[in-house]
Amino acid sequence: MFLTQEIIRKKRDGGALSAEEIQFFVRGITDGSVSEGQIAALAMAVFFNDMNMDERVAFTLAMRDSGEVLEWRSLNLPGPVLDKHSTGGVGDVVSLLLGPMIAACGGYVPMISGRGLGHTGGTLDKFDAIPGYCTVPDNARFRQVVRDVGVAIIGQTSSLAPSDKRFYSIRDVTATVESVAMITGSILSKKLSAGLDALVMDVKVGSGAFMPTYDKSLELAQSIVTVGNGAGMRTSAILTDMNESLAPYAGNALEVRGAMDYLTGRSRPARLHEVTMALCAEMLVLGGLAADETAARARLQAALDSGEAASRFARMVVALGGPADLIDNPDKHLERAPIVVPVPAPKAGYAASTDCRGIGLAVVSLGGGRRRPSDNIDFAVGLTELASLGERIEAGQPLAMVHARTEAAAEQAVRELQAAYHIADAAPAANPVVYRAIK
Ligand code: URA
Repeated sequence: MFLTQEIIRKKRDGGALSAEEIQFFVRGITDGSVSEGQIAALAMAVFFNDMNMDERVAFTLAMRDSGEVLEWRSLNLPGPVLDKHSTGGVGDVVSLLLGPMIAACGGYVPMISGRGLGHTGGTLDKFDAIPGYCTVPDNARFRQVVRDVGVAIIGQTSSLAPSDKRFYSIRDVTATVESVAMITGSILSKKLSAGLDALVMDVKVGSGAFMPTYDKSLELAQSIVTVGNGAGMRTSAILTDMNESLAPYAGNALEVRGAMDYLTGRSRPARLHEVTMALCAEMLVLGGLAADETAARARLQAALDSGEAASRFARMVVALGGPADLIDNPDKHLERAPIVVPVPAPKAGYAASTDCRGIGLAVVSLGGGRRRPSDNIDFAVGLTELASLGERIEAGQPLAMVHARTEAAAEQAVRELQAAYHIADAAPAANPVVYRAIK
């Protein structure tokens, strides 16, 4: 038996908590016996005094065990259960591609995704743009789709890691979100409760990334890899660039269209392809489905070329209630915004850098994201034909196309996009798309 205030005092004074103390505290978060004030106090103590790796593992496992933990063994699946998680970005449709690609290569992907947060888009919101697609199936249907199709992308249920939900909501209003220890526990507890064999983490770097610097992104990646493996789940991380939108489009229905174009081969933007292939290849190797990266890439390319990955996407959409002809007739099902206008470049030069966060916020302003949790999303709005960094642009030529609901919203987005692009006389040095892998 422990006293909650003594646990807080120990962390306040810089001590390391035992696994038992952490389990006691997390149980109290879940059952309500630890007060909001006590949770806030511990969060602030951890923010300043940190947790060592053993504490992080104990914290992550305790949060995982605060709710249901999915099990897949009883289904006797003939392949590994795999997933990817990203720290969030703009124009990041990787999940829509990766799930079907991994399924086409023999993996099973029960992907529990989230809504957009701040300037970043959310995979769940993108699937909500597909009429009929059910993002909250019951457990039996979820398992059936994973078993039959190999991939099901759905939304968070309140039964997984409920302690994180309460803890996160208190961190959010007490300026204690930005702690690598607590972010690690928050992300991994949810992924561990999905019962995965292996996880690949996409940690973004740059002006649209959640972490403010390269070093912080690296620190988070290393923490997640150490704690994930320490908690018994094969985990690796890849640091990828988010100094510009990953795809040349952003906005929910627009991203679904783009993802289908990628899967069918109609259009495969180079940066998006590079990040998707790097993450997928790492997943295949980690899951034992490919001997090395070269073999993994060959297998993935074959899954794209044969149409098998596109077919898995289509089958998942149908299995979860969406239209059978979505890939063939996107215009029949995905809404288009009534107003489409170009963003004229204010001067000639090279796209030298973008405030990628600002580009994400422009999508939010158009109605493609939420200002408050209760807001509805306008799936049709967003941006397309975003100029890539390094691209030469003449004055008045478009930096992007804005898809808006009203003239006023379009005008505001044009101004926001013009402000988000820095145009210089000289071409910038090229940014790597994939910085490094942490295994
Ligand atoms: N995403 C999460 O799920 N948790 C955090 O703490 C930060 C980002």
